[in-house]
Amino acid sequence: MAVQFTANEDEIFKKIADAARSCSMPCYLIGGFVRDTLLGRPTKDADFVCVGDALQLATVAAQRFKPHPKVSLFKNFGTAHFKLHDGFDLEFVGARRESYQYNSRKPEVVPGTIEDDQKRRDFTINALAISLNSHDFGALVDPFNGVEDLNQGIIKTPLNPAETFSDDPLRMMRAIRFATQLNFTIYPETLAGITEAKERIRIISQERITDELNKIIKSEKPSIGFKLLYDTGLLHIIFPQMVDLAGAEFIEGKGHKDNFYHTLQVLDNTAQRSDNLWLRWAAILHDIAKPATKRFEEGHGWTFHGHEVVGGRMVPKIFNQLKLPLGEQVKYVRKLVELHLRPISLTKENITDSAIRRLLFDAGEDIDDLMKLCESDITSKNKFKVKRYLENFELVRERCKAVEEKDSIRTWQPPITGEIIMETFGIRPSRPVGTIKDAIKDAILDGVIENNYDAAFAYMLQKGEECGLTQKTGFSSQETGKGAFTPEDSNSKEPGNENKF
Ligand code: ATP
Ligand code: MG
Repeated sequence: MAVQFTANEDEIFKKIADAARSCSMPCYLIGGFVRDTLLGRPTKDADFVCVGDALQLATVAAQRFKPHPKVSLFKNFGTAHFKLHDGFDLEFVGARRESYQYNSRKPEVVPGTIEDDQKRRDFTINALAISLNSHDFGALVDPFNGVEDLNQGIIKTPLNPAETFSDDPLRMMRAIRFATQLNFTIYPETLAGITEAKERIRIISQERITDELNKIIKSEKPSIGFKLLYDTGLLHIIFPQMVDLAGAEFIEGKGHKDNFYHTLQVLDNTAQRSDNLWLRWAAILHDIAKPATKRFEEGHGWTFHGHEVVGGRMVPKIFNQLKLPLGEQVKYVRKLVELHLRPISLTKENITDSAIRRLLFDAGEDIDDLMKLCESDITSKNKFKVKRYLENFELVRERCKAVEEKDSIRTWQPPITGEIIMETFGIRPSRPVGTIKDAIKDAILDGVIENNYDAAFAYMLQKGEECGLTQKTGFSSQETGKGAFTPEDSNSKEPGNENKF
């Protein structure tokens, strides 16, 4: 069986083949590139394995491209790498044999044959090679029936699974990641090998585990991966809080839904609406505090009061534990978890503009993502209910749009800052500063006072007095040079109402 390359690939690989011949080294394309080409998934990452010194081959090969790419040499690992101007990433490694020590995933490495090298690969579909040698250029080298497994959609280790996974436990995450990305089945013995070796995952760094987890989450249907992680017991080790969602308890004949499977459905629904990894994380975490807040109220049933707030507080802890980024991303996910019930409360009748303004203010630029999360959270099996709930959310979206056009809340900030409050009353950062600031914001959003600096300043003095504070400076609107506040891009043109929502 020969593989069809594009004209560009053919040109690149002929150059590498030429270089390998001049160095008298057998050379093969191997791994992901071969797999993805056979699957018809275009890729620009190509790995080459040569029987000999990979650093020498890469250096010689680079000379055949114009302009000459800069070669990175990793002497300690015996690998080399260069990138072509059209984005092709070429990685070179010498064929090797590996033997592992029990307590590490760093093997002892000695030079070997192409067969040795294929044996150390994780799965049959990743062990496929294509010859770049003159006598059989383009021929597939497939000692483990990888093509058959590709055709049947099977993930299978070339050698004994328990040993393969124990040698390098990251392969367990990779198996589940490929099964999810490619929608493949893990071969029963291979799957049993994961269950058997699961505890070994503990020797893998959190960063690598999370990297694979994120690849699962970025797939088209992430639930495939989470179900496999759950069924093999890996999830219990790497993300126990998510396992706590599983199961339904019954009291007085009343049960609640299994929040693990509900969460997976919400995640898949979100994945259909957005590619944003962090929105998908918000889906994973939206109900994470349901186990912690679960109560059975007699005569009423199961409740999860406050799960959105408690869940919000759990978000930074989980991000920290999983070594996920602690910057803007964690704030965004926390905010969506905290707000995920708000749009539902706005699907009732007689919702005031001020309630909509509050949601817009709290969600800010992320209102659209929040609406997507809420829509994904509808997992009823009753099609009519789903349709009705979606229509209700559509009405909330329309109200948000209308109010936003009128008042531009998304990017609005109250006219009085914490600094002004502190300076006016001569106080340090403390609780009253927040209380007064919130009171001003609420008064404006509720339409109690006008949306301008002077009205807010007067209100601040009044609220300060209620907290036992007196004005220390002669600070006023004139002295700050700030005039009346008008929302950005406001198009509220009613006379005398410019500054009122
Ligand atoms: P992708 O690039 O989509 O992650 P890939 O299969 O190319 O998929 P890489 O991590 O780029 O994965 O690795 C390239 C090749 O190296 C793999 O196809 C596989 O043959 C081999 N490989 C990678 N990681 C391992 C591992 N932990 N154990 C054994 N072989 C591995
Ligand atoms: Mg790759």
